[in-house]
Formats: sequence, structure tokens, C-alpha cells
Amino acid sequence: GIIMEKYIISIDQGTTSTRAILFTLDGKIKAISSRSLPCYYPSSNAVEQNPLEIIISVNDTINELMIKEHLLPEQILSLGITNQRETTIVWEKATGRPVFNALVWQSKQSQDICEALKDKEEFIMSKTGLILNPYFSASKIRYILDHIDNGQSRAENGELLFGTVDTWLLYRLTRGKVFATDYSNASRTLLYNIFERKWDEDLLNIFNIPSCMLPEVKESSSIFGYSDILSESYLVPIAGILGDQQSSLFGQTCFAKGDIKNTYGTGCFLLMNIGENPALYSKGLLTTIAWGINNKVTYALEGSVLIGGASIQWLRDELKIIEKSSDSEEIAYNTLDNDVYVVPAFVGLGTPYWDDNCRGAIFGLTRNSSRDVLTKATLESIAYQVKDVMEVMKKETKYKFNFLSVDGGASGNNYLLGFQSDILNLNIKRSETLETTALGVFYLCGLTLGLYKDLEDIKKSHRVSDTFTPKMDYKTRNNKYKKWKVAVSAARKFK
Ligand code: ADP
Repeated sequence: GIIMEKYIISIDQGTTSTRAILFTLDGKIKAISSRSLPCYYPSSNAVEQNPLEIIISVNDTINELMIKEHLLPEQILSLGITNQRETTIVWEKATGRPVFNALVWQSKQSQDICEALKDKEEFIMSKTGLILNPYFSASKIRYILDHIDNGQSRAENGELLFGTVDTWLLYRLTRGKVFATDYSNASRTLLYNIFERKWDEDLLNIFNIPSCMLPEVKESSSIFGYSDILSESYLVPIAGILGDQQSSLFGQTCFAKGDIKNTYGTGCFLLMNIGENPALYSKGLLTTIAWGINNKVTYALEGSVLIGGASIQWLRDELKIIEKSSDSEEIAYNTLDNDVYVVPAFVGLGTPYWDDNCRGAIFGLTRNSSRDVLTKATLESIAYQVKDVMEVMKKETKYKFNFLSVDGGASGNNYLLGFQSDILNLNIKRSETLETTALGVFYLCGLTLGLYKDLEDIKKSHRVSDTFTPKMDYKTRNNKYKKWKVAVSAARKFK
């Protein structure tokens, strides 16, 4: 008979786009379909998406992949979902219809709700590992219930359901049969007790959210349900769910305590595996659930840089001194070392400063500070900010890092990674595919389906493409980093 190759599809539902990625069973990308996804800005602090457009984009990308690659439904062993985290959707149980736009994680409509609860911040952190911030879902749910007719009473009557994007997709893909999420996504809602691993009654009371709205929380590597999206006669299992940053940690095979990755995207997200015994840390580091597999829950420490690759976008779109983001690489290589520092605090500073009111600044300009000098300094600011996060992680956990695993759009920049390695005095490993987010949930599905025996088995098959090793001497590194710190504190004085 005819031998049909089998595949797994990772659905990567991100903030700016939805992608369906076809993986061969040995973890190679065979094809990708993608759709960009519009955001809506109904007010200056609001970022919204249409939940129906999200589900349509998933349908479209999967269909396109199947048609383009001439695939039969039976060739797809499973679907996995990785998603933009925290984004909040509320819909009607009876009809599956959303009652409000999705409130995207960046959205700040619910700032006032958080500010009114300021005295509970420590209590909330002690249960969730998170800071009290409109990023996370709880205040967004509250906002939606307050802005629709009879929101609270309808929720209390069990008429409304809440989900992060994974839950929404799962619900729609299973035609309302499955209402569930995984540990990693639950841990981003500000309603989930990450230590006791349950929806927390105290937290639900604080936000006045009825528990009947909340999905069941399951292991990340489970068969969540079956979907007829490929055909009526073949139900494909959904065999893994992880939030995007956790999926990238998994895709980088950061399975051991102390393993750390950074994703260089618009912002930078650093996650460090902290094992099975979580603790709370200060300095704005978040404790969160990495994944739950085989009755074991693994935790992660998370820190973020708000403006990473976006600083290069600023050079391109606002200053117009480069044409493409990638031009910054050659310019940096061809520009002599200089003493100019850019602090790209365009929207404040993230870990470890969490300074909302700081704004961007440039220090050390001279008459020959050309646009190339500015470009190089801006690129280097990404690396300094990443070091800031790693320094507090090191200090707080007392852990010594072996190397840093990297991915994300801007990690394609060799100068950036070389400089990063220099300034950290640490080896950097870039994985063969920059699609580590999709790879993570592929590995997870592989584990659920038994294609991999265990994590060790995954690790053996993982491919690293490039390693960057530090070449800068101690003195230069120290001087530069000291100056960077001075630049940051000077920028923070200007308010
Ligand atoms: P996101 O997933 O956050 O949308 P990506 O991972 O696609 O972002 O990365 C895109 C970001 O990285 C953009 O801000 C872009 O300016 C920056 N970027 C992309 N390629 C490069 C490069 N070669 N050098 C520097 N920055 C880059």
C-alpha cells in the first residue's frame, strides 16, 4: 500500500499573527502558513482583538497548510496549541459567542481596577507569584463584566465563560465539548494559586469573579480533546498546550533547574527553569508555572525587557536611519567602539526597575556621533538590558548559569549575540530553528503521543546551530556595564 508520512501541526497563536506549522515526526519544519491579525485601539490605553478573527485565522492557516501540502486528515497525528498569554476572552456558554473583544495582554483599560486593590498586592503575589498589574487576566475579566449589560449576574448564573486564548481555541475546536486550560496559562490569570495548584477562592473574592466561569486546569501534555477541523470522519487529538514563553523554554530543552532562555522579539522574555520547588523572589521577578507533565509541575522565573527589538524598529520607522532591522548588524560590525549609550525606556523600564515613568535617553554624544554610532549603541542597549535581568536572577537565586539559549526575530543578529556573550561573559546557544515556540509544543505533543520516551529523549534529538563565546576582556566589560548603569540611573532622574 501507500505509505503516508505522518505529521504534527503546532498552532502558534501570537499577538501579531497566527501560524500553523507542520512538523515531521523528527522535529523538522516542513511548511508554515500564517495570517497577520489586526489589533484595535478603541482608546489610548486599550489593545483589543476580535475573538472570532482569532479562530478564523486558525481555521484558515490550518486549511491552507493541508491544501498546500496535499495532506490527508489522517496524516496529522495531533494538533498542539501555543498562544499569546494573559489575553482575556469572555463568551456565552449557550451560544459560544464572545460578549466583548479580547483584551490583549498589553491593554491597560483595567489599570484603575488594579490601583484600587494596591493594598492587596503582596497577598496576591504570595499566591500567584505575579505582580498586581493590568497585564494579567483577572482585572481584565472584571473590566469586561463591568462593561456589558448585567455582566456580574450573568456570570454568577453560569451564563458566561472566561478563557485565555488557548481555552477559547480549544472550546471552539472541540465545538464546545471541552472547556479547559493548562497549568502554564492558568498561572498567568492572577486567579490561580501556583503553590496549591487550584483556582484560589480569596483571589476570586478580591476580583469578585464567580468560579463557574473558569476552565478546568489540566496537565500541559494531555489529550485535551478531539477536533473535527480536518474532517468530519477523522477526529484529531489536541495533545499539548503551553503559553508562548513557556513553550519556547520547552522548545529550547531547558529541562533542568538553572537552564535559561531569552527570546529577542519586540520585547525580551527571559525564563529560567527553577525546578519543582517554587519560591518567591523580589526585584520584579515573576514566579510562574513552566509546565505540568506526568504529575510533576515545573516552575520558572521570569523577567522581561519591555523594548528589545522594538528599539531597532524605532531606528527604522521613527528616526529612519536604517532601512531594514537586519541592517543594524553590518553597521554595528563596521562602526568603531564608542562611548555612546542609548536607554530605550520608551514605555518605562521592566525587570528589575519596573519604572513606568522613565523615558528614553541618549548619553555620551560627541560631534562625530553619527547615525551609525547611534545604531550600534541602540543594538547594544538590548544586550545591556538582558544583562540587567540576568544579574538579578543570579543574585536572587544564587544560581550560576552555564549558558544562555536564545531565539526570537532579533536573535538572527550575529553582532547582537556576540556582544551579548561578551557583556555577560557567557556562552550563547542559538537553536537551529528560531521557531522554538512552535517547536516546544511539538515536543510536548510528541511526549503525549509517546513519540518521545521522556525529556532526555527530546534533548538528544534537539539541534543547536551556533554557539557564541565571550571574547571581551574583563576590564572593558566592566567599564561598559558600569557606564550603562550610570546611563540608566541618569535617565531615571529625568521625570
Ligand atoms: P515578535 O514575535 O515580538 O513580534 P519577532 O520575534 O518577530 O517579534 O522579532 C521582531 C523584532 O526583532 C522587531 O522589533 C525587529 O525590529 C527586531 N529584529 C528582527 N530582525 C532583526 C535583526 N536582524 N537585528 C536586529 N533586530 C531585529
